[in-house]
Amino acid sequence: MPNFEKLRLPTEGSVITFTKGIPSVPNDPIVPFIRGDGTGVDIWPATQKVIDAAILKEYGKERKINWFKVYAGDEACELYGTYQYLPEDTIAAIRHFGVAIKGPLTTPIGGGIRSLNVALRQIFDLYSCVRPCKYYSGTPSPHKNPQDLDIVVYRENTEDIYMGIEWEAEDENCKNLIDYLNNTLIPKSEKIKNRVIPNGSGIGIKPVSKKGSQRHIRKAIEHAKKLKGNKKHVTLVHKGNIMKYTEGAFRDWGYDLAVNEFRNDCITERESWILDNIEKNPDINIENNARLLEPGFDKLTPNKRSFICEEIKAVIESIAETHGHNKWKDLILVDDRIADSIFQQIQTRPQEYSILATLNLNGDYVSDAAAAIVGGLGMAPGANIGDTAAIFEATHGTAPKHAGLNKINPGSVILSGVMMLEYFGWDEAAKLITKGISESIANKKVTYDLARLMEPKVDPLSCSAFADEIISNF
Ligand code: NAP
Repeated sequence: MPNFEKLRLPTEGSVITFTKGIPSVPNDPIVPFIRGDGTGVDIWPATQKVIDAAILKEYGKERKINWFKVYAGDEACELYGTYQYLPEDTIAAIRHFGVAIKGPLTTPIGGGIRSLNVALRQIFDLYSCVRPCKYYSGTPSPHKNPQDLDIVVYRENTEDIYMGIEWEAEDENCKNLIDYLNNTLIPKSEKIKNRVIPNGSGIGIKPVSKKGSQRHIRKAIEHAKKLKGNKKHVTLVHKGNIMKYTEGAFRDWGYDLAVNEFRNDCITERESWILDNIEKNPDINIENNARLLEPGFDKLTPNKRSFICEEIKAVIESIAETHGHNKWKDLILVDDRIADSIFQQIQTRPQEYSILATLNLNGDYVSDAAAAIVGGLGMAPGANIGDTAAIFEATHGTAPKHAGLNKINPGSVILSGVMMLEYFGWDEAAKLITKGISESIANKKVTYDLARLMEPKVDPLSCSAFADEIISNF
Protein backbone atom coordinates (compact mmCIF):
# COMPACT_ATOMS: atom_id res chain seq x y z
CA MET A 1 0.00 0.00 0.00
CA PRO A 2 1.47 3.40 -0.97
CA ASN A 3 1.96 6.12 1.67
CA PHE A 4 -0.46 8.89 0.76
CA GLU A 5 0.44 12.45 1.64
CA LYS A 6 -3.06 13.90 1.90
CA LEU A 7 -5.57 11.21 0.97
CA ARG A 8 -7.90 9.44 3.38
CA LEU A 9 -8.27 5.77 2.53
CA PRO A 10 -11.67 4.13 3.00
CA THR A 11 -11.69 2.03 6.16
CA GLU A 12 -12.94 -1.05 4.30
CA GLY A 13 -12.53 -2.66 0.90
CA SER A 14 -10.21 -4.73 -1.28
CA VAL A 15 -7.97 -4.19 -4.28
CA ILE A 16 -8.88 -5.07 -7.90
CA THR A 17 -6.08 -7.13 -9.45
CA PHE A 18 -5.23 -7.81 -13.10
CA THR A 19 -4.05 -10.96 -14.86
CA LYS A 20 -3.09 -10.57 -18.51
CA GLY A 21 -5.26 -7.49 -18.78
CA ILE A 22 -8.36 -9.11 -17.23
CA PRO A 23 -9.55 -7.58 -13.94
CA SER A 24 -10.39 -9.73 -10.96
CA VAL A 25 -12.95 -7.77 -8.96
CA PRO A 26 -13.76 -8.51 -5.30
CA ASN A 27 -17.26 -7.90 -3.90
CA ASP A 28 -16.01 -4.81 -2.03
CA PRO A 29 -13.58 -3.03 -4.40
CA ILE A 30 -11.98 0.27 -3.45
CA VAL A 31 -12.52 2.60 -6.41
CA PRO A 32 -10.75 5.97 -6.60
CA PHE A 33 -12.89 8.76 -8.04
CA ILE A 34 -11.98 12.22 -9.30
CA ARG A 35 -14.94 14.53 -8.80
CA GLY A 36 -13.90 16.77 -11.67
CA ASP A 37 -13.87 20.53 -12.18
CA GLY A 38 -16.71 22.83 -13.21
CA THR A 39 -19.91 20.82 -13.50
CA GLY A 40 -18.14 17.89 -11.81
CA VAL A 41 -19.49 19.33 -8.52
CA ASP A 42 -23.03 18.60 -9.74
CA ILE A 43 -22.42 15.48 -11.78
CA TRP A 44 -20.34 13.41 -9.37
CA PRO A 45 -22.80 13.28 -6.39
CA ALA A 46 -25.63 12.41 -8.80
CA THR A 47 -23.55 9.64 -10.38
CA GLN A 48 -22.40 8.11 -7.10
CA LYS A 49 -25.97 8.06 -5.81
CA VAL A 50 -27.27 6.22 -8.90
CA ILE A 51 -24.45 3.64 -8.94
CA ASP A 52 -24.75 2.91 -5.21
CA ALA A 53 -28.55 2.60 -5.43
CA ALA A 54 -28.32 0.12 -8.33
CA ILE A 55 -25.74 -2.04 -6.54
CA LEU A 56 -27.79 -2.04 -3.33
CA LYS A 57 -30.99 -2.93 -5.18
CA GLU A 58 -29.37 -5.79 -7.13
CA TYR A 59 -26.97 -7.28 -4.59
CA GLY A 60 -28.06 -6.04 -1.14
CA LYS A 61 -25.11 -6.23 1.25
CA GLU A 62 -23.28 -8.79 -0.85
CA ARG A 63 -21.53 -6.18 -3.02
CA LYS A 64 -20.47 -2.59 -2.44
CA ILE A 65 -18.09 -0.07 -3.95
CA ASN A 66 -15.88 1.66 -1.39
CA TRP A 67 -15.33 5.06 -2.96
CA PHE A 68 -11.92 6.68 -2.47
CA LYS A 69 -11.75 10.41 -3.20
CA VAL A 70 -8.59 11.43 -5.06
CA TYR A 71 -7.76 14.77 -6.61
CA ALA A 72 -6.94 16.17 -10.05
CA GLY A 73 -7.44 19.49 -11.81
CA ASP A 74 -8.39 22.71 -10.01
CA GLU A 75 -9.47 20.84 -6.89
CA ALA A 76 -6.00 19.26 -6.65
CA CYS A 77 -4.32 22.67 -6.90
CA GLU A 78 -6.46 23.92 -4.00
CA LEU A 79 -5.28 21.04 -1.80
CA TYR A 80 -1.73 20.39 -3.02
CA GLY A 81 -0.62 23.83 -4.27
CA THR A 82 -0.17 25.80 -7.50
CA TYR A 83 0.25 23.71 -10.68
CA GLN A 84 -0.29 20.46 -8.75
CA TYR A 85 -2.92 19.38 -11.26
CA LEU A 86 -2.08 15.72 -11.01
CA PRO A 87 -0.52 14.97 -7.60
CA GLU A 88 1.65 11.92 -6.94
CA ASP A 89 -0.99 10.73 -4.43
CA THR A 90 -3.57 10.42 -7.23
CA ILE A 91 -1.21 8.57 -9.53
CA ALA A 92 -0.19 6.18 -6.72
CA ALA A 93 -3.84 5.55 -5.78
CA ILE A 94 -4.93 4.70 -9.33
CA ARG A 95 -1.82 2.57 -9.87
CA HIS A 96 -2.55 0.62 -6.68
CA PHE A 97 -6.32 0.22 -7.01
CA GLY A 98 -6.38 -0.22 -10.80
CA VAL A 99 -9.84 1.08 -11.68
CA ALA A 100 -10.96 4.71 -11.33
CA ILE A 101 -13.79 6.93 -12.54
CA LYS A 102 -13.64 10.65 -13.17
CA GLY A 103 -15.69 13.71 -13.96
CA PRO A 104 -14.52 16.32 -16.48
CA LEU A 105 -11.25 18.19 -15.88
CA THR A 106 -10.19 21.67 -16.94
CA THR A 107 -7.27 21.66 -19.33
CA PRO A 108 -4.49 23.35 -17.30
CA ILE A 109 -3.04 26.63 -18.43
CA GLY A 110 0.65 26.58 -17.42
CA GLY A 111 2.37 23.99 -15.21
CA GLY A 112 3.76 21.86 -18.05
CA ILE A 113 0.76 19.54 -18.55
CA ARG A 114 -0.82 19.63 -22.00
CA SER A 115 -4.02 17.84 -20.98
CA LEU A 116 -4.78 15.93 -17.78
CA ASN A 117 -6.80 13.37 -19.67
CA VAL A 118 -3.97 12.71 -22.10
CA ALA A 119 -1.49 12.58 -19.18
CA LEU A 120 -3.59 9.97 -17.34
CA ARG A 121 -3.88 7.84 -20.48
CA GLN A 122 -0.12 7.96 -21.00
CA ILE A 123 0.93 7.37 -17.37
CA PHE A 124 -1.21 4.23 -17.08
CA ASP A 125 -0.76 3.13 -20.69
CA LEU A 126 -4.55 3.11 -21.17
CA TYR A 127 -4.21 2.24 -24.80
CA SER A 128 -7.85 1.72 -25.80
CA CYS A 129 -10.45 4.43 -25.47
CA VAL A 130 -13.88 2.83 -25.64
CA ARG A 131 -16.91 4.94 -26.53
CA PRO A 132 -20.29 3.25 -26.98
CA CYS A 133 -22.87 5.21 -28.96
CA LYS A 134 -26.33 3.82 -28.45
CA TYR A 135 -29.73 5.42 -28.72
CA TYR A 136 -32.12 5.71 -25.79
CA SER A 137 -35.68 5.89 -27.00
CA GLY A 138 -37.14 9.39 -26.79
CA THR A 139 -33.78 11.22 -26.84
CA PRO A 140 -34.04 14.16 -29.22
CA SER A 141 -31.81 13.54 -32.22
CA PRO A 142 -31.14 15.34 -35.50
CA HIS A 143 -31.56 11.98 -37.27
CA LYS A 144 -34.71 10.25 -38.48
CA ASN A 145 -33.71 6.78 -37.30
CA PRO A 146 -31.15 7.23 -34.52
CA GLN A 147 -32.17 3.85 -33.06
CA ASP A 148 -30.35 2.16 -35.95
CA LEU A 149 -27.00 3.27 -34.59
CA ASP A 150 -25.59 0.97 -31.92
CA ILE A 151 -21.83 1.02 -32.18
CA VAL A 152 -18.76 1.04 -29.97
CA VAL A 153 -15.81 3.14 -31.08
CA TYR A 154 -12.45 1.68 -30.05
CA ARG A 155 -10.04 4.57 -30.37
CA GLU A 156 -6.31 3.90 -30.00
CA ASN A 157 -5.12 6.15 -27.21
CA THR A 158 -1.33 6.31 -27.10
CA GLU A 159 0.07 6.76 -30.62
CA ASP A 160 -0.60 8.64 -33.84
CA ILE A 161 -0.30 12.38 -34.32
CA TYR A 162 -1.83 12.71 -30.84
CA MET A 163 1.53 11.87 -29.24
CA GLY A 164 2.19 15.56 -29.58
CA ILE A 165 5.65 15.17 -31.10
CA GLU A 166 5.68 18.37 -33.11
CA TRP A 167 7.76 21.45 -33.78
CA GLU A 168 6.60 24.96 -34.46
CA ALA A 169 7.40 26.58 -37.80
CA GLU A 170 10.65 28.58 -37.60
CA ASP A 171 11.75 26.74 -34.43
CA GLU A 172 15.47 25.96 -34.88
CA ASN A 173 14.91 22.19 -34.45
CA CYS A 174 12.08 22.32 -36.97
CA LYS A 175 14.27 24.08 -39.53
CA ASN A 176 17.06 21.53 -39.00
CA LEU A 177 14.60 18.68 -39.38
CA ILE A 178 13.19 20.08 -42.63
CA ASP A 179 16.72 20.59 -43.93
CA TYR A 180 17.65 16.98 -43.08
CA LEU A 181 14.46 15.61 -44.63
CA ASN A 182 14.67 17.70 -47.81
CA ASN A 183 18.36 17.26 -48.42
CA THR A 184 19.19 13.82 -47.05
CA LEU A 185 16.32 11.50 -46.29
CA ILE A 186 13.75 12.29 -48.99
CA PRO A 187 16.22 12.20 -51.92
CA LYS A 188 17.31 8.73 -50.76
CA SER A 189 13.73 7.39 -50.68
CA GLU A 190 12.77 6.17 -54.14
CA LYS A 191 8.99 6.71 -53.94
CA ILE A 192 9.09 10.25 -52.53
CA LYS A 193 12.38 11.57 -53.77
CA ASN A 194 10.84 14.41 -55.76
CA ARG A 195 8.88 15.88 -52.88
CA VAL A 196 9.96 18.94 -50.94
CA ILE A 197 8.66 20.15 -47.58
CA PRO A 198 8.02 23.91 -47.86
CA ASN A 199 10.30 26.00 -45.66
CA GLY A 200 8.38 27.64 -42.84
CA SER A 201 6.26 24.51 -42.22
CA GLY A 202 5.45 23.21 -38.76
CA ILE A 203 6.18 19.49 -38.42
CA GLY A 204 4.21 16.80 -36.55
CA ILE A 205 5.22 13.17 -36.29
CA LYS A 206 2.68 10.35 -36.64
CA PRO A 207 4.06 7.11 -35.14
CA VAL A 208 1.89 3.99 -35.53
CA SER A 209 3.39 0.69 -34.36
CA LYS A 210 2.44 -2.93 -34.96
CA LYS A 211 2.46 -3.66 -31.23
CA GLY A 212 0.36 -0.58 -30.41
CA SER A 213 -2.14 -1.31 -33.19
CA GLN A 214 -2.51 -5.01 -32.48
CA ARG A 215 -2.93 -4.77 -28.70
CA HIS A 216 -5.71 -2.26 -29.33
CA ILE A 217 -7.44 -4.21 -32.12
CA ARG A 218 -7.14 -7.34 -29.94
CA LYS A 219 -9.33 -5.60 -27.33
CA ALA A 220 -11.89 -4.70 -30.02
CA ILE A 221 -12.04 -8.31 -31.26
CA GLU A 222 -12.31 -9.64 -27.69
CA HIS A 223 -15.27 -7.29 -27.23
CA ALA A 224 -16.91 -8.50 -30.46
CA LYS A 225 -16.60 -12.12 -29.25
CA LYS A 226 -19.11 -11.29 -26.50
CA LEU A 227 -21.69 -9.90 -28.95
CA LYS A 228 -24.33 -11.75 -30.91
CA GLY A 229 -25.62 -12.01 -34.49
CA ASN A 230 -24.55 -9.31 -36.91
CA LYS A 231 -23.03 -7.34 -34.03
CA LYS A 232 -20.06 -9.75 -34.11
CA HIS A 233 -18.35 -7.36 -36.45
CA VAL A 234 -15.15 -5.30 -36.21
CA THR A 235 -14.45 -2.62 -38.81
CA LEU A 236 -10.89 -1.34 -39.11
CA VAL A 237 -11.19 2.38 -39.85
CA HIS A 238 -8.21 4.00 -41.54
CA LYS A 239 -6.98 6.40 -44.18
CA GLY A 240 -4.60 3.85 -45.63
CA ASN A 241 -5.25 4.90 -49.20
CA ILE A 242 -3.21 8.05 -48.45
CA MET A 243 -1.07 7.24 -45.38
CA LYS A 244 0.04 3.74 -46.35
CA TYR A 245 2.68 3.07 -43.73
CA THR A 246 0.75 4.36 -40.72
CA GLU A 247 -3.00 4.12 -41.37
CA GLY A 248 -2.62 1.41 -44.03
CA ALA A 249 -0.32 -0.55 -41.74
CA PHE A 250 -2.95 -0.31 -38.96
CA ARG A 251 -5.42 -2.03 -41.31
CA ASP A 252 -2.91 -4.69 -42.41
CA TRP A 253 -1.80 -5.48 -38.85
CA GLY A 254 -5.47 -5.73 -37.88
CA TYR A 255 -6.17 -8.34 -40.56
CA ASP A 256 -2.94 -10.10 -39.64
CA LEU A 257 -4.13 -10.38 -36.04
CA ALA A 258 -7.62 -11.53 -37.06
CA VAL A 259 -6.43 -14.35 -39.31
CA ASN A 260 -3.57 -15.51 -37.09
CA GLU A 261 -4.40 -15.01 -33.43
CA PHE A 262 -8.20 -15.23 -33.84
CA ARG A 263 -8.39 -17.68 -36.75
CA ASN A 264 -11.16 -19.78 -35.23
CA ASP A 265 -13.25 -16.75 -34.28
CA CYS A 266 -12.88 -14.42 -37.25
CA ILE A 267 -13.50 -14.21 -40.94
CA THR A 268 -12.47 -11.30 -43.12
CA GLU A 269 -14.94 -9.66 -45.46
CA ARG A 270 -12.86 -10.86 -48.41
CA GLU A 271 -12.85 -14.46 -47.18
CA SER A 272 -16.58 -14.39 -46.53
CA TRP A 273 -17.19 -13.20 -50.12
CA ILE A 274 -15.07 -16.03 -51.43
CA LEU A 275 -16.77 -18.73 -49.35
CA ASP A 276 -20.21 -17.36 -50.08
CA ASN A 277 -19.51 -17.32 -53.81
CA ILE A 278 -18.01 -20.82 -53.81
CA GLU A 279 -21.05 -22.14 -51.96
CA LYS A 280 -23.38 -20.53 -54.47
CA ASN A 281 -21.35 -21.82 -57.41
CA PRO A 282 -19.82 -25.09 -56.21
CA ASP A 283 -19.57 -26.66 -59.63
CA ILE A 284 -17.55 -24.05 -61.43
CA ASN A 285 -13.78 -23.93 -61.28
CA ILE A 286 -11.61 -21.47 -59.40
CA GLU A 287 -10.93 -19.28 -62.39
CA ASN A 288 -14.61 -18.88 -63.16
CA ASN A 289 -15.38 -18.17 -59.52
CA ALA A 290 -12.68 -15.51 -59.59
CA ARG A 291 -14.37 -14.06 -62.67
CA LEU A 292 -17.65 -13.81 -60.74
CA LEU A 293 -15.98 -12.32 -57.68
CA GLU A 294 -13.85 -9.71 -59.40
CA PRO A 295 -15.65 -7.50 -61.91
CA GLY A 296 -13.25 -6.82 -64.80
CA PHE A 297 -11.25 -10.00 -64.02
CA ASP A 298 -10.46 -10.66 -67.69
CA LYS A 299 -8.99 -7.20 -68.13
CA LEU A 300 -6.51 -7.66 -65.27
CA THR A 301 -2.88 -8.54 -65.94
CA PRO A 302 -2.14 -12.30 -65.95
CA ASN A 303 -0.13 -11.81 -62.76
CA LYS A 304 -3.01 -10.17 -60.93
CA ARG A 305 -5.42 -12.83 -62.21
CA SER A 306 -3.27 -15.67 -60.99
CA PHE A 307 -2.82 -13.86 -57.65
CA ILE A 308 -6.61 -13.77 -57.18
CA CYS A 309 -6.98 -17.44 -58.13
CA GLU A 310 -4.22 -18.36 -55.68
CA GLU A 311 -6.01 -16.38 -52.99
CA ILE A 312 -9.28 -18.19 -53.64
CA LYS A 313 -7.50 -21.54 -53.63
CA ALA A 314 -5.75 -20.69 -50.36
CA VAL A 315 -9.01 -19.72 -48.68
CA ILE A 316 -10.70 -22.94 -49.81
CA GLU A 317 -7.80 -25.09 -48.71
CA SER A 318 -7.18 -23.47 -45.37
CA ILE A 319 -10.57 -22.43 -43.98
CA ALA A 320 -13.39 -23.90 -46.07
CA GLU A 321 -13.64 -26.85 -43.68
CA THR A 322 -13.93 -24.80 -40.49
CA HIS A 323 -15.61 -21.67 -41.86
CA GLY A 324 -17.60 -22.96 -44.86
CA HIS A 325 -21.22 -24.18 -45.14
CA ASN A 326 -22.43 -20.82 -43.84
CA LYS A 327 -20.51 -21.31 -40.56
CA TRP A 328 -18.71 -18.04 -41.30
CA LYS A 329 -21.97 -16.21 -40.67
CA ASP A 330 -21.62 -16.94 -36.93
CA LEU A 331 -18.03 -15.74 -36.75
CA ILE A 332 -16.71 -12.23 -36.16
CA LEU A 333 -16.66 -10.40 -39.46
CA VAL A 334 -13.54 -8.25 -39.80
CA ASP A 335 -13.63 -5.67 -42.55
CA ASP A 336 -12.17 -2.22 -43.13
CA ARG A 337 -13.43 1.15 -44.27
CA ILE A 338 -11.74 4.37 -45.27
CA ALA A 339 -12.22 6.95 -42.50
CA ASP A 340 -14.11 9.53 -44.57
CA SER A 341 -16.51 6.88 -45.83
CA ILE A 342 -17.31 5.69 -42.30
CA PHE A 343 -18.63 9.17 -41.47
CA GLN A 344 -21.17 8.71 -44.25
CA GLN A 345 -21.87 5.10 -43.48
CA ILE A 346 -22.78 5.60 -39.81
CA GLN A 347 -25.41 8.04 -41.03
CA THR A 348 -26.70 6.28 -44.12
CA ARG A 349 -26.30 2.59 -43.12
CA PRO A 350 -25.80 2.66 -39.33
CA GLN A 351 -27.30 -0.79 -38.75
CA GLU A 352 -24.43 -2.41 -40.68
CA TYR A 353 -21.81 -1.48 -38.09
CA SER A 354 -20.94 -2.64 -34.60
CA ILE A 355 -17.36 -2.07 -33.41
CA LEU A 356 -15.17 0.50 -35.12
CA ALA A 357 -11.46 0.05 -34.37
CA THR A 358 -9.65 3.28 -35.13
CA LEU A 359 -6.42 5.14 -34.70
CA ASN A 360 -6.28 8.05 -32.26
CA LEU A 361 -7.31 11.07 -34.31
CA ASN A 362 -9.91 9.31 -36.49
CA GLY A 363 -11.49 7.89 -33.33
CA ASP A 364 -11.71 11.31 -31.76
CA TYR A 365 -13.69 12.65 -34.70
CA VAL A 366 -15.88 9.65 -35.41
CA SER A 367 -16.90 9.10 -31.77
CA ASP A 368 -18.17 12.68 -31.46
CA ALA A 369 -20.01 12.39 -34.77
CA ALA A 370 -21.64 9.15 -33.61
CA ALA A 371 -22.50 10.68 -30.21
CA ALA A 372 -24.29 13.52 -31.99
CA ILE A 373 -26.54 11.07 -33.83
CA VAL A 374 -27.76 9.47 -30.60
CA GLY A 375 -28.28 12.60 -28.54
CA GLY A 376 -25.09 14.53 -27.99
CA LEU A 377 -22.48 15.02 -25.33
CA GLY A 378 -24.71 14.64 -22.30
CA MET A 379 -25.24 10.96 -23.15
CA ALA A 380 -21.74 9.98 -24.32
CA PRO A 381 -19.78 7.77 -21.92
CA GLY A 382 -16.19 6.62 -22.26
CA ALA A 383 -13.56 4.32 -20.80
CA ASN A 384 -9.80 4.23 -21.14
CA ILE A 385 -8.55 0.69 -20.76
CA GLY A 386 -5.06 -0.79 -20.47
CA ASP A 387 -3.63 -4.05 -19.17
CA THR A 388 -3.17 -2.95 -15.55
CA ALA A 389 -5.62 -0.09 -15.14
CA ALA A 390 -8.86 1.41 -16.45
CA ILE A 391 -10.32 4.89 -16.06
CA PHE A 392 -13.97 5.58 -16.84
CA GLU A 393 -14.84 9.15 -17.78
CA ALA A 394 -17.21 11.67 -19.27
CA THR A 395 -16.36 12.57 -22.83
CA HIS A 396 -17.56 16.17 -22.41
CA GLY A 397 -15.67 18.96 -20.67
CA THR A 398 -16.32 20.97 -17.52
CA ALA A 399 -18.99 23.27 -19.10
CA PRO A 400 -17.94 26.04 -16.66
CA LYS A 401 -20.92 28.31 -17.33
CA HIS A 402 -23.26 25.64 -15.91
CA ALA A 403 -21.06 24.73 -12.91
CA GLY A 404 -22.68 24.59 -9.48
CA LEU A 405 -26.19 25.28 -10.84
CA ASN A 406 -27.47 21.72 -10.33
CA LYS A 407 -28.57 21.86 -13.95
CA ILE A 408 -26.20 19.84 -16.12
CA ASN A 409 -26.92 16.37 -17.50
CA PRO A 410 -25.03 13.74 -15.44
CA GLY A 411 -25.89 11.05 -18.05
CA SER A 412 -22.42 10.78 -19.55
CA VAL A 413 -20.68 10.01 -16.23
CA ILE A 414 -23.55 7.77 -15.08
CA LEU A 415 -23.25 5.78 -18.33
CA SER A 416 -19.48 5.65 -17.78
CA GLY A 417 -20.37 4.09 -14.43
CA VAL A 418 -22.50 1.55 -16.33
CA MET A 419 -19.43 0.69 -18.42
CA MET A 420 -17.41 0.29 -15.22
CA LEU A 421 -20.00 -2.08 -13.74
CA GLU A 422 -19.96 -4.13 -16.97
CA TYR A 423 -16.17 -4.19 -16.77
CA PHE A 424 -16.53 -5.60 -13.23
CA GLY A 425 -18.96 -8.22 -14.52
CA TRP A 426 -21.72 -6.63 -12.40
CA ASP A 427 -24.07 -6.73 -15.37
CA GLU A 428 -27.31 -6.81 -13.39
CA ALA A 429 -26.59 -3.42 -11.76
CA ALA A 430 -25.44 -2.03 -15.12
CA LYS A 431 -28.71 -3.14 -16.77
CA LEU A 432 -30.75 -1.63 -13.97
CA ILE A 433 -29.19 1.80 -14.49
CA THR A 434 -29.66 1.56 -18.25
CA LYS A 435 -33.32 0.72 -17.67
CA GLY A 436 -33.66 3.67 -15.26
CA ILE A 437 -32.17 6.07 -17.80
CA SER A 438 -34.24 4.68 -20.70
CA GLU A 439 -37.48 5.04 -18.78
CA SER A 440 -36.66 8.56 -17.56
CA ILE A 441 -36.03 9.67 -21.15
CA ALA A 442 -39.08 7.85 -22.50
CA ASN A 443 -41.17 9.65 -19.82
CA LYS A 444 -39.59 12.96 -20.86
CA LYS A 445 -38.10 13.46 -17.39
CA VAL A 446 -34.78 14.91 -18.48
CA THR A 447 -32.29 17.72 -17.89
CA TYR A 448 -32.31 21.03 -19.80
CA ASP A 449 -30.12 19.89 -22.70
CA LEU A 450 -32.56 17.20 -23.78
CA ALA A 451 -35.72 19.04 -22.60
CA ARG A 452 -35.05 22.01 -24.90
CA LEU A 453 -34.90 19.75 -27.94
CA MET A 454 -38.08 17.81 -27.20
CA GLU A 455 -41.26 18.46 -29.14
CA PRO A 456 -43.45 19.65 -27.51
CA LYS A 457 -41.07 21.33 -25.05
CA VAL A 458 -40.96 19.90 -21.51
CA ASP A 459 -39.91 21.39 -18.17
CA PRO A 460 -36.37 20.30 -17.36
CA LEU A 461 -35.36 18.38 -14.25
CA SER A 462 -32.34 19.48 -12.25
CA CYS A 463 -29.20 17.33 -12.30
CA SER A 464 -29.99 15.78 -8.90
CA ALA A 465 -33.70 15.33 -9.73
CA PHE A 466 -32.71 13.45 -12.91
CA ALA A 467 -30.59 11.09 -10.79
CA ASP A 468 -33.56 10.54 -8.43
CA GLU A 469 -35.82 9.92 -11.42
CA ILE A 470 -33.45 7.26 -12.74
CA ILE A 471 -33.43 5.54 -9.34
CA SER A 472 -37.23 5.71 -9.10
CA ASN A 473 -37.37 3.65 -12.32
CA PHE A 474 -35.28 0.79 -10.90
P1 NAP B 1 -17.52 21.44 -22.71
O1 NAP B 1 -17.13 21.59 -21.29
O2 NAP B 1 -17.72 20.04 -23.17
O3 NAP B 1 -18.87 22.30 -22.90
C1 NAP B 1 -19.35 22.73 -24.15
C2 NAP B 1 -20.87 22.70 -24.16
O4 NAP B 1 -21.28 21.35 -24.29
C3 NAP B 1 -21.54 23.21 -22.89
O5 NAP B 1 -21.61 24.60 -22.82
C4 NAP B 1 -22.89 22.53 -23.04
O6 NAP B 1 -23.64 23.18 -24.08
C5 NAP B 1 -22.50 21.17 -23.58
N1 NAP B 1 -22.26 20.21 -22.48
C6 NAP B 1 -21.10 19.89 -21.89
N2 NAP B 1 -21.29 18.99 -20.92
C7 NAP B 1 -22.61 18.72 -20.92
C8 NAP B 1 -23.43 17.87 -20.13
N3 NAP B 1 -22.96 17.10 -19.15
N4 NAP B 1 -24.76 17.90 -20.37
C9 NAP B 1 -25.26 18.66 -21.34
N5 NAP B 1 -24.55 19.47 -22.11
C10 NAP B 1 -23.24 19.51 -21.90
O7 NAP B 1 -16.45 22.11 -23.67
P2 NAP B 1 -15.58 23.43 -23.47
O8 NAP B 1 -16.44 24.50 -22.89
O9 NAP B 1 -14.91 23.62 -24.75
O10 NAP B 1 -14.47 23.00 -22.42
C11 NAP B 1 -14.45 23.42 -21.05
C12 NAP B 1 -13.22 22.81 -20.37
O11 NAP B 1 -13.32 21.37 -20.34
C13 NAP B 1 -11.90 23.12 -21.08
O12 NAP B 1 -10.91 23.36 -20.10
C14 NAP B 1 -11.60 21.84 -21.83
O13 NAP B 1 -10.24 21.68 -22.07
C15 NAP B 1 -12.10 20.80 -20.85
N6 NAP B 1 -12.42 19.48 -21.45
C16 NAP B 1 -12.28 18.42 -20.65
C17 NAP B 1 -12.65 17.15 -21.12
C18 NAP B 1 -12.54 15.96 -20.18
O14 NAP B 1 -12.27 16.13 -19.00
N7 NAP B 1 -12.74 14.73 -20.67
C19 NAP B 1 -13.16 17.00 -22.41
C20 NAP B 1 -13.33 18.14 -23.21
C21 NAP B 1 -12.96 19.40 -22.71
P3 NAP B 1 -24.82 24.23 -23.81
O15 NAP B 1 -24.23 25.32 -22.97
O16 NAP B 1 -25.20 24.67 -25.18
O17 NAP B 1 -25.92 23.52 -23.13
